[in-house]
Amino acid sequence: LSVWSAVPSGPPDPILGVTEAFKADKDPRKINLGVGAYRDGNGKPYVLSSVKKSEERILTSHPEKEYLPITGLGSFTQNAAKLAYGEDSAPLKAGAVAVTQSISGTGALRIGGAFLARHYPNAKSIYLPTPSWGNHTPIFRDSGLEVRQYRYFDKETVGLDFAGMVADLKAAPENAIVLLHACAHNPTGIDPTVEQWKELSDLIQEKKLFPFFDMAYQGFASGSTSRDAFALRHFVSQGHQVALAQSFAKNMGLYGERCGAFSLTTADAEEKARVDSQLKIVIRPMYSNPPMHGALIANGILSDPALYSEWEGEVKGMADRIISMREKLYTTLNDLNTPGEWGHIKSQIGMFSFTGLTKPQTQALAEKAHVYMTADGRISMAGLNGNNIDYFSESVSKAVK
Ligand code: PLP
Repeated sequence: LSVWSAVPSGPPDPILGVTEAFKADKDPRKINLGVGAYRDGNGKPYVLSSVKKSEERILTSHPEKEYLPITGLGSFTQNAAKLAYGEDSAPLKAGAVAVTQSISGTGALRIGGAFLARHYPNAKSIYLPTPSWGNHTPIFRDSGLEVRQYRYFDKETVGLDFAGMVADLKAAPENAIVLLHACAHNPTGIDPTVEQWKELSDLIQEKKLFPFFDMAYQGFASGSTSRDAFALRHFVSQGHQVALAQSFAKNMGLYGERCGAFSLTTADAEEKARVDSQLKIVIRPMYSNPPMHGALIANGILSDPALYSEWEGEVKGMADRIISMREKLYTTLNDLNTPGEWGHIKSQIGMFSFTGLTKPQTQALAEKAHVYMTADGRISMAGLNGNNIDYFSESVSKAVK
């Protein structure tokens, strides 16, 4: 008898399962809108020119493969924090931001979960929006936090249930941790407005909740890295202490390089040093130290004015292409007299759109039209392009008629 004979088989990953089904489909018209990775106007994976240039420089300037420190490449983490918090952020200037490199955004969330589970001095429950990125619940549960929910999405309006969100945060116990998507909420594509963020900041302060920002799409939402950092920077300017997970997967297209950062704002440099020491103690037994290549690439861009401005243009290019696909999809669905109101396609932001398509409709789209998306009706806008958007719109139109 094998040692593992009693291991039950687990359910497949709901998102990666979509790609499996797509791969097995032989129809030439097939479209994969499941995966959250950018595709160019020809549906191809895209390596940024700024990334290629940075990578070329590394080959000559940094050929060795030594270990990085436990918290990663120091110049990279400083530049990452600057990108997120802004050059003139008070805690950054005071040397009070404890920051570590991480295995992309997922690893940042996991370090944050583990640090909070060990050192957060209050009840260890974290509130997530409903719905949220599918990996949030297992990340925080496996980190040892109790996962709870607050309302976020309103099915009726296909918009933000702001009243429900406020009511649930008001009802949360004092000092609870609240996970906030900093921009480009995944999976809905719906963000609070500037005014709503300000209200949330006040409410979270009154209730002494602890904000944990997940910023996986800085720059990718609006095309501007500073506009997309508004919520984070506003909270910090209002005196909140925050936790922050950053990813360079989407905004630099560094998916497989696993490059990210986790940070905490602290009271002062002395407290920061203590927090740093404990971050190291959390990380060392997990993976010892992070991979170097992605951090070198990202840092090459963040530290060189010419590459930085080229990168900013490329981020804007990706965001703009997605925004133009939203416009085109909206117009085409209306031109085809598709039943329903599709304004949300245009008002949503970032990689994803929550279409409002039902599970049976998504199944029909896969079976009859070879169009693949997650069962909740989420599509990756980046999977659409000039060659497939008409076919996609016609297929959606047929599915809802
Ligand atoms: N957070 C959100 C909301 C995401 O959508 C993603 C990726 O899809 C991540 C975090 C983490 O991604 P990665 O670990 O590839 O940086």
